[in-house]
Amino acid sequence: MNYISSRGQAWGISAAEVIKKGIAPDGGLFVPEYIPQLTKEDFAAMEGWNYQERARHILAYYLSDFTESEIKDCVEGAYNSKNFDEGSIAPLVKLGEKKYVQELWHGPTCAFKDMALQILPHLMSTSMNTTGETSEIVILVATSGDTGKAALEGFSDVPGTRIIVFYPDQGVSEVQKRQMVTQEGSNVYVAGVRGNFDDAQNGVKGIFSQEDYNLVLKQQQMKLSSANSINWGRLLPQIVYYISAYLDLCKEGALKSGDKINIAVPTGNFGNILAAYYAGRMGVPIGKLICAANTNNVLTDFIRKGVYNCNRPFEKTISPSMDILISSNLERLLFEITAHDASKVAAWMEELKSRGNYDVGPEVYQQVADCFWSDCCSDQETIATIRRTWQKDHYLIDTHTAVAVNVYEKYLQSTGDNSVTVIASTASPFKFGSSVAKAVMSEDMLADRNEFEILYLLEEFTGVRMPAAIKGLENRPILHNTICQIDDMQKTVSQFLNIK
Ligand SMILES: *Cc1c(COP(=O)(O)O)cnc(C)c1O
Repeated sequence: MNYISSRGQAWGISAAEVIKKGIAPDGGLFVPEYIPQLTKEDFAAMEGWNYQERARHILAYYLSDFTESEIKDCVEGAYNSKNFDEGSIAPLVKLGEKKYVQELWHGPTCAFKDMALQILPHLMSTSMNTTGETSEIVILVATSGDTGKAALEGFSDVPGTRIIVFYPDQGVSEVQKRQMVTQEGSNVYVAGVRGNFDDAQNGVKGIFSQEDYNLVLKQQQMKLSSANSINWGRLLPQIVYYISAYLDLCKEGALKSGDKINIAVPTGNFGNILAAYYAGRMGVPIGKLICAANTNNVLTDFIRKGVYNCNRPFEKTISPSMDILISSNLERLLFEITAHDASKVAAWMEELKSRGNYDVGPEVYQQVADCFWSDCCSDQETIATIRRTWQKDHYLIDTHTAVAVNVYEKYLQSTGDNSVTVIASTASPFKFGSSVAKAVMSEDMLADRNEFEILYLLEEFTGVRMPAAIKGLENRPILHNTICQIDDMQKTVSQFLNIK
């Protein structure tokens, strides 16, 4: 399997190169040349397998330049009982006759980003070996919270790599910040930026595009790469859990032959829901992909009208990992839906850059609307959904998962389609514990408590176990103190890497 750029200027690239590079040289995203088809026999065999065996089988289609034993090592290095506190890795929980939640947060940082960022470092190391890479790979990350910690945890002490994370000094939750500044590892660096997430993101993009600076790094035998979901190596592992969810439903007898399933995903950068789309194209029978947005509802408007328009105010919500106006991975969907029309995709992306919007026209829009349905959810509705789900189902969900549950309810009401639906649960409720506590507990129980005290109260009140990765976080030693100005990010990188 080779890869091509969604903007048409790169083709015939191996998976190993694609994973190392992160982004295509023409500014596009790497996509597979074709989408592999799973047969009836594949599905029948995989039904009896565990998560790791399913992952090995599915990844092999896309990583044809990796050996079978390399793939096995990557999968077992990632999805094991040291990293995941749940043997089945991505368990399905039944909430109603036709309503299931897939818990994707049993990894070391308690968000679904672990599903990909636990295996990406292994894929990266293998890619470096098979291509005879002699430079060190320096992963630069700007994070609004979850990606940073998951990437640090994944790349910590991985030979041949270093990882530098920039987070907005005032823009992450206390738990998220503590998770990052207490990170151990000899190759990890963390810095707060005096600015918001966009400032950090622009700073990182600026460093990537500085040719002079990349030459300086090259002289030091270093190359920059990305751990954001523009990297195919992050998207690919996510296809696995959607196929696995379908197989679990078949195994459980929840589906009759020919039944389609719906999948509801709380969406930000469009990475997670795009993985579900690929699972569908590979053969999972999917009715509708339900794209759930918070009040940053650019995608809802796009799926309803075929016009992408990010000229609107950025809203800070209680589901911060979905606070995003430019969903990068939509580019991959457009490339697939237009049957690989790279010049069209490149033109839309140019329009997005120059005037902040583009219109895909009626034909492409119709195809988007055939696969996807979308609605959005306010902070108030999010809190009400957490409360209702706790009271009705005695099940505790985080603010992001609640957006998906809410939008799924809107879908049911509006369409009456009660096919079996899998809702992606993207974070442990304790990761966004103060909002969750506000939803299920009374105000005076929480008065004058700090974020960590609230977590223990929430555990006690609900009887839901706090993940070990969060417990005791407030007592762990702080190992990273660097705070820098927006304009000093490159200087900070040099200091971390010891470059004069
Ligand atoms: C990143 C994230 C999302 C959004 O996922 P995308 O792939 O960016 O659409 C949703 N929920 C949580 C908890 C996240 O960390």
